[in-house]
Amino acid sequence: MTFDELGIHASLLPLLEKNKFHKPTLIQERGIPAILNQHDVLGIAKTGSGKTASFVLPILTLLQRLPKREKNRKIDVLVLVPTRELAVQVGDVFNEYGQSLPNPIKTMSVYGGVSINPQMKSLFGTNVLVATPGRLLDLVSHNALDLSMVRALILDEADKMLNLGFQDEMNEIFNLLPEVRQNLLFSATLSKNLEGIQNVLLDDPQVIEIESVEADIESINLSGYFVTDDRRGPLLRYLIKENKMDQVLVFTSSGQKADRVAAKLTKNGIDAYAIHGKKSQGARQSALDAFKSGKIKVLVATDLLSRGIDIAGLPFVINYELPRSPKDFIHRVGRTGRADENGLAISFVDRQEIKHFKVILKKMKRYIDMVETDDLDLHGY
Ligand code: AMP
Repeated sequence: MTFDELGIHASLLPLLEKNKFHKPTLIQERGIPAILNQHDVLGIAKTGSGKTASFVLPILTLLQRLPKREKNRKIDVLVLVPTRELAVQVGDVFNEYGQSLPNPIKTMSVYGGVSINPQMKSLFGTNVLVATPGRLLDLVSHNALDLSMVRALILDEADKMLNLGFQDEMNEIFNLLPEVRQNLLFSATLSKNLEGIQNVLLDDPQVIEIESVEADIESINLSGYFVTDDRRGPLLRYLIKENKMDQVLVFTSSGQKADRVAAKLTKNGIDAYAIHGKKSQGARQSALDAFKSGKIKVLVATDLLSRGIDIAGLPFVINYELPRSPKDFIHRVGRTGRADENGLAISFVDRQEIKHFKVILKKMKRYIDMVETDDLDLHGY
């Protein structure tokens, strides 16, 4: 199967070739025709499976078929995402492909944490809006935006969008949308929230499930190191230095801890930044950019980053501390081993946490031998 055969707009093909997308991924092969036929879709596929392009390409194609309309505050397509970083990332993909089309498509990403005025000014004439829920509602209340003509609603990381934290905002948004529209829900995991909402939100959807999550992460090598609390920092620095790790994403349980771990790494000659919810949007984006481009070796993050963010070819993830839920673990380790490359995800485990770690591994149908580190000389790290 080729992209051409899937029926996407011919002007998109050269750019796909240039980006070395030689053939569609599974979610693209099955999702693109369904979306082009204007079906509702529930797509279960992890980030890294090519799910962004699976909705961007057909949505752009559908928009090309519409007659030219006057510029106003009415958008055609709304994409809702849980984090600011994902808003930027998805907006970038729409913009990249949108530019090669004969009828230009204007995409904007809007999110909180930055001034609302420039966003209000630029919104005029936008076709595709990628937004986090809070800022979207702010823009509506400022009359900068009209959702009454939305043709397609896309929820990326849908299980996160539909959990309790976003519930009130999401209900408010659903009430602002026209009743007849195309709905596309994408999620890496099929959760209870999703099962509940799919009946309300989706109309006779095509359900596309790409492998189980357990199978998806089979390509990721997992290992576990027993460690006591006071040796987590030295062990981290030892592993990074001794294994000459050039790009490592480290997860901690809190923003405060992320700051402390990053500061210690930097003090020990390993370039690192921390990224978490309390950082300004500018600081978050520049840390992520510096990490992606290889300017810094280590990014220390909270679970804020565990969803959706695509870091091409990331070789290492280290769980400095274990997450509470197996689902977060899957999202965290899923940052590595992407697009068919092998990755290594290392978890630091206190002996008291071993039961919890085993529960996580069991959920993933994985078994690993734990590495003892008590005798490891960490002096000087
Ligand atoms: P996503 O699942 O949308 O986060 O995409 C994961 C990565 O796969 C991104 O870096 C995309 O650029 C890449 N990708 C998406 N579709 C293809 C494709 N058909 N062939 C090769 N790479 C792709």
